This record gives sequence, structure tokens and C-alpha cells, in this order.
Amino acid sequence: MPLCDGCGAQVDEGHIRSRIERLEHATRFRPIHIQVLFLAAAPPSQPGDDFYRAATSVKRSAASQVFFDEIAKSVGHKPGDTADEETTLTEFQRRGFYLAYAVECPIQSPIQLAADVAKLAPRVLLRLNTSYKPKFVAAISQELQPLIPVFQSNSWAERLILQNGAPFETPTEDNLQHHAEFGDPLADSITKALAHHS
Ligand SMILES: [Zn+2]
Repeated sequence: MPLCDGCGAQVDEGHIRSRIERLEHATRFRPIHIQVLFLAAAPPSQPGDDFYRAATSVKRSAASQVFFDEIAKSVGHKPGDTADEETTLTEFQRRGFYLAYAVECPIQSPIQLAADVAKLAPRVLLRLNTSYKPKFVAAISQELQPLIPVFQSNSWAERLILQNGAPFETPTEDNLQHHAEFGDPLADSITKALAHHS
């Protein structure tokens, strides 16, 4: 069984294929120069919930829809805007924004996810420094907390976009209400970071 580059686990061919599909969908909207990397912990388990998903005819889960709409605020979209996903993603790309994951495969168990985030920290740092090379990194999953000190002690301290010193808290199906509104503070912080930078 092959080892997956995305999550470090021993996996079957189907797993590798799904990972490649996710990367292909994301790559379509990858900016040449990344201004802000939106870093989340791991992709959703349903392909229809993927941020850069292919088929937009499928309805997203509630948490996935909130996640997408809140992120869309960073390109100036308001709730209820009728822009389709393709248009939003194109604008996201045009601004130099890109969404990526610390662990590049869906991980069901929160304990496993925490372990994988910690284990893959050196690899995430390498991807930041050699592949994405963004001006800023916005940490948008509470599960990324263990990575924050790693980033801070590796020259990213000034270029991390956080909320009160911690990652932005994004919604899950269980706490949809509580974390639903991360998009406004995130959009504000990004605007400020980019204004200071230029
Ligand atoms: Zn994997």
C-alpha cells in the first residue's frame, strides 16, 4: 500500500486518486503569486463540500456553505449575494488568495487530526517556504493551534493573520451557530495586513 504525501498514512489507490482530484480542482484557482494563504486543518470528507469543488449543482452541507460564504467576505461578498461559486473563486484567485490545508486529506477523528497536524508541521512549513511563498498566512481552523508556535519561531510571526493570537474558529456541523461569523474579522484583518504591507 502506498504512503500518501498529503496525510502521511498508508492508503489505497482510491485515496490517492481523491487527493489528486482535490489538488487539480484547487490548482485551477491557484494564483501565481499568493498574497494570502488561507490555511485550514484538513479538507471536508465529502467532495461536494470541497472549497474548490468541481460540481456546483450539488448542495453543500450547512457547515460547508457557511465556511464558503464567510471566506467570500474576504473578497467583498455579503451574505445573500447571488454571485455563483465560480465567480467568487475567480475573484479569490484574482486577489492572490489561496486556500490550502495542513493535512491534505480528510481526517474523521479529531484526535487523529490533532496528531497529524503536529506530525506534519515540518512539512507544512516547507510547503509555505518553498511552494506557496505567500505574503501572509491566515490560520482558519482551531485545530491549527499547535502550528502557531512553529510558524512564529520560523520567521512567520509578523506575517500570521490570527484572531486574538489564535486561529480563527471555523464552523463544524456541531457548532454552526457559535462559529458562524468568522468572515468579518477575517476580512478586516486581511485588509489591514495587506494595507500595511504595500
Ligand atoms: Zn492522504
